[in-house]
Amino acid sequence: MAKVYKFGGASVKDAEGVRNVEDIVRKADGELMVVVSAMGKTTNALERVVEYCASGQEEKALSQWVDIIDFHVAIMKELGLQPGYDIRLQGEIPYDPALSFDENYDQVVSMGEIMSTQIVAVYLLKQGFSVEWWNIPKLLITDSTWREAKVDDETSCSAIRAGWNRPNRPQVVVTQGFIGGTADGKRTTLGREGSDYTAALLGNYLDAESVTIWKDVPGILNADPRIEPDTVLIPSLRYQDAVELAYSGAQVIHPKSIRPLENKSIPLYVRPFGNPTAAGSCISTDGTGPIDVPVYIWRKNQILITMRAKDFAFVLEESLSEIFDIIRRHRLKVSLIQSSAVTISVCVDNTRFVPEAIEALQQHFNVSYNDKLSLLTIRGTTPEILEHAKNGRTIMLSQTTRRTARMVVKD
Ligand code: ASP
Ligand code: MG
Repeated sequence: MAKVYKFGGASVKDAEGVRNVEDIVRKADGELMVVVSAMGKTTNALERVVEYCASGQEEKALSQWVDIIDFHVAIMKELGLQPGYDIRLQGEIPYDPALSFDENYDQVVSMGEIMSTQIVAVYLLKQGFSVEWWNIPKLLITDSTWREAKVDDETSCSAIRAGWNRPNRPQVVVTQGFIGGTADGKRTTLGREGSDYTAALLGNYLDAESVTIWKDVPGILNADPRIEPDTVLIPSLRYQDAVELAYSGAQVIHPKSIRPLENKSIPLYVRPFGNPTAAGSCISTDGTGPIDVPVYIWRKNQILITMRAKDFAFVLEESLSEIFDIIRRHRLKVSLIQSSAVTISVCVDNTRFVPEAIEALQQHFNVSYNDKLSLLTIRGTTPEILEHAKNGRTIMLSQTTRRTARMVVKD
């Protein structure tokens, strides 16, 4: 039975990272689907390339592009690979002024994963592995919602199974996270940080034994170690807890990555690539039941939008479907909703879609908003913990149940 391993950008940020991947793959010693993100901060750098291209700053675009290529070439050389011979990198920026920004974004930004996987695959090959590189845009078929493409499960599943079940397929397959392709051959992306989701989909299609996400943290912690000094590892949790954590903003796993695994009861491991023998955390059907330490989760970059009926009518009944329709059409990601007799407030991720959504809402309501906010969720809270957390914070809105407290606070 196959296992799926996913390596994020931090795990392949340099030559040493790639060697470490080799070490982990060697220890797995079995059929492996290896999903890799772009190296280090490459995705951000590629985003800048598209922005420069789109704003006519050709020189800047080119110099950023050259930096990205040089970064990969340096890693290849350190690994003993020959650029231009072992791997031929794309020479020109795949940007076409005739296309929309978002379509160009996908063509350019997807190159990060193409390059990282070529390097990992060729390196493994040179180290004697039986390995194959898959160009996933030809297999993971999506619609053309650029930058947030929706996967066509049926077509993708059969293409990926066919590839995997082929006679004499090498033991290890290396492919890209985060990207897919349309039926007519254009590359797409699945949304930032989408590689976990790819790993989960592949796990589902291949009925994998498990999916492991190798990360730069010991596993799933009860708080962000960059914010809270004392964190503890949660060794085992249920899918449902994991979904809640991810939705509340915990950055360890992408929220979309749970469902494909839960559907088939495939365990998801989160393990530290820096300490590959450590067990990390396991998300599965049973878990160990409720988590017994308070868990703190921050969801950053929030905006709180409050709508008030223009004629002081009751907002709720008449307007809910209108509001949700606007939310859906503008691809807003809702983190919290609260209503009163005449207002409804929604807290959403402050994405590039927000300004237009606000405009649309203004046609129906008096709209006010506050940005630069964060949503803090505390699971397993007690009155004491809550008091402590509130201390000194400007709280815009809060919701508490017996065990969970959520508050929207100023940054
Ligand atoms: N490289 C992509 C990103 O940084 C996808 C990922 O890392 O999951 O967003
Ligand atoms: Mg990344």
